[in-house]
Amino acid sequence: MEKELAAFIDSLEVSVKPVEAGAALAYFNAAVTGKEEEYNKSSAFNIATSKIYADKAAFARLKNFKDSGKIKDTLLFRQMTLLFNSFLANQVDEMKMEALIKAQTKLEQKYSTFRAMVDGKKFSDNEIESVLKNATNNTELQKCWLASKQIGDSVAPDVISLVKMRNEIAQSLGFSNYHEMSLKLSDQDPAQIEKLFNEIDALTRDNFIALKTDMDAILAKKYNIKPENLMPWHYQNRFFQEAPAIYNINLDSYYADKDVVELTKVFYAGIGLDATGILAKSDLYEKEGKYQHAFCTHIDRSGDVRVVCNVKNNSQWMGTMLHELGHGVYDQNINMSLPYFLRTPAHTFTTEAIAMLFGRLASNPYWLRDNAGISEADAEKISEQVQNNLRLEQLVFSRWSQVMFRFEKGMYENPDQDLNQLWWNLVEKYQMLKKPEGRNNADWASKIHIASYPCYYHNYQLGELLASQLQAYINTHVLVAGANEVVSLSNNQEVGNYLLEKVFQPGARYQWNDMIRRATGEELSARYYAGQFIK
Ligand SMILES: [Zn+2]
Repeated sequence: MEKELAAFIDSLEVSVKPVEAGAALAYFNAAVTGKEEEYNKSSAFNIATSKIYADKAAFARLKNFKDSGKIKDTLLFRQMTLLFNSFLANQVDEMKMEALIKAQTKLEQKYSTFRAMVDGKKFSDNEIESVLKNATNNTELQKCWLASKQIGDSVAPDVISLVKMRNEIAQSLGFSNYHEMSLKLSDQDPAQIEKLFNEIDALTRDNFIALKTDMDAILAKKYNIKPENLMPWHYQNRFFQEAPAIYNINLDSYYADKDVVELTKVFYAGIGLDATGILAKSDLYEKEGKYQHAFCTHIDRSGDVRVVCNVKNNSQWMGTMLHELGHGVYDQNINMSLPYFLRTPAHTFTTEAIAMLFGRLASNPYWLRDNAGISEADAEKISEQVQNNLRLEQLVFSRWSQVMFRFEKGMYENPDQDLNQLWWNLVEKYQMLKKPEGRNNADWASKIHIASYPCYYHNYQLGELLASQLQAYINTHVLVAGANEVVSLSNNQEVGNYLLEKVFQPGARYQWNDMIRRATGEELSARYYAGQFIK
């Protein structure tokens, strides 16, 4: 039975490998150029991949292996489990699946090429964010924020139709909706995740209320209005997913005369994780028609790893570069002698955790000292403010992730409800923002993740929990530091070695909680996140 399964997996690899690599490469090219033909190519490869996983006879064989109880080899068992989930997700009417993928790709292109219009002038996302961060004129802020939401109403019907298509697929496979299916097939128990989110809500609520009150007082003064008149456009970000600049620090000034790409390269080399090869293949700067966000892709599961960024020399892009290259070094250092189907991170959120662990360093005073040349005295001077800011960032993001998790859950449970209302109810409850009077627009649909990366966002919060857990473990076991001490992680090969050995190399050979237990001595916990950020 084991020999048969091994042969089955080998032949599957032969058909899957070229189409997965083709899809990843076409997607990379599409993101970089914005060209329709590359989007079409990527879509065609995705359809081909899902056709392989839709094969009924192959699924029946896999089910047979699974039900036999005769697969004892741990690597084979693990591959069988993961492949079973991939096949199950694709046991869908072919026409339906093809229609879904086409609709998804078309919508993605709409998001990518959309530019907000303010007074007849086109604004990129970077430009909108820059106005929201820097302008002090209330009318200008409002105009820009509203412009950034224009995409929402124009794509909302398409998004709802996608949601219904996804639900139909989930229901045909015996799940109650797509949200439940996504979590279960990615090895997460929906009830357990919800429980964790309730726990994080309770942990962060009082701290957030206190910080929000301070924040509102500072912002009201800045915009010369009363705190009760603060509107969503006063929080310096389209979604209030990042911390407004309320502390007296300007990290951008430390990066303005630096090359953040070079800093990234030097930092990773210093911890023994060479990123030179990844950077050489990447597309790092803004271009007309190019995808405006950032991502990392492992093209072939054999070490061709690339990132897409739109780098500026500021603290946001420093953080994003460290983040994306975190994904990059994880992918690149997976043990390439593992079977093809295990040459991925243990879970999408474990790779997010690594990306976040490193992304946080962009606002770490000792990292700035060791990497961006600020003096010890300056590092000490900004230390408290920067720590406050990191804490604020975490809490602001955590409350935002509550909105995203609960919105998606609610939307897939009932896509016919008043989604505009659902969105604002959650924004008011968790982020404590005020809905503009009478506003009834699809503001939720202006968030690309809702359409293009469904039921994924909660993984960012899980990633933050694991980043803190790994940080505490590194502090106490690899370095000689207190669990919550702020350390720069720089110029220490042991840091890289630990991650390499315990997190990267194992790839997906262990279930995620098993990997976390092997790496840190216990399963995923909110304790270290609370220890680091909750007072
Ligand atoms: Zn990421």
